[in-house]
Amino acid sequence: MRSTTQRSGTGRHRKITPSQTAKGRMALFTVAAGAVSSAGVGGAAAASLQSNAPATPNVQLASTSNPLEKAQPELAEAPLDAAPQVLTMAEAKPVTNLTEQLEKAIEASVARAAADDAARAPSVSLPAVGVLTSPFGPRWGSFHSGIDIANANGTPILAVMDGTVIDSGPASGYGNWIRIQHEDGSISVYGHMESLDVTVGQHVVAGQKIAGMGNLGFSTGTHLHFEIHPDGTNAVDPAAWLASRGISV
Ligand SMILES: [Zn+2]
Repeated sequence: MRSTTQRSGTGRHRKITPSQTAKGRMALFTVAAGAVSSAGVGGAAAASLQSNAPATPNVQLASTSNPLEKAQPELAEAPLDAAPQVLTMAEAKPVTNLTEQLEKAIEASVARAAADDAARAPSVSLPAVGVLTSPFGPRWGSFHSGIDIANANGTPILAVMDGTVIDSGPASGYGNWIRIQHEDGSISVYGHMESLDVTVGQHVVAGQKIAGMGNLGFSTGTHLHFEIHPDGTNAVDPAAWLASRGISV
């Protein structure tokens, strides 16, 4: 933005025509409207400010990006004894402009709300790094209600989402298990861990280490058995559940 201040020694006088005055009034109205959308929504018209009194500074403002928003701080720089100022605009369509600005403000508001929602959506973590050794589905004449992720003993087991620990300790078949109740009503289940880092009632966050991988219970090698019950009762394929949240096992 370029701003120049020139002092006219000879008292240059400029006649104000009725049409300029009308434009000036509309321009002032638009500047006031611009204040409504000062949060990043730019005006469309370029505005220039001129002092019309003799022997007073002649201030001209020109903006390349957001004239209405930036013009206001510049106004404060005009001398206090400056005569009443008339704003002229290249394009004097205040009503149309106001509508555009309001629409842009609404768009910006909707975008902010969407970003807000995204920020509040539960973040999801992979429960453990490792190799997928057994998928969800029928297995050995039974049904494998989770996935197995194999890695070294003690590999960190992570809470997949924020939640509250509702079980942490020995469980038949699982050796040790941890169950976490999440805010959306789902429950995640972790089995066969060698070590447990959390206790019942503890609040955990997504990605927090809750245990160390082990080979306890009905297990043929060190791995994590992981289940997800979206409705709190029925297990679904954790690989698909994770994949739909952008996480591949
Ligand atoms: Zn398993």
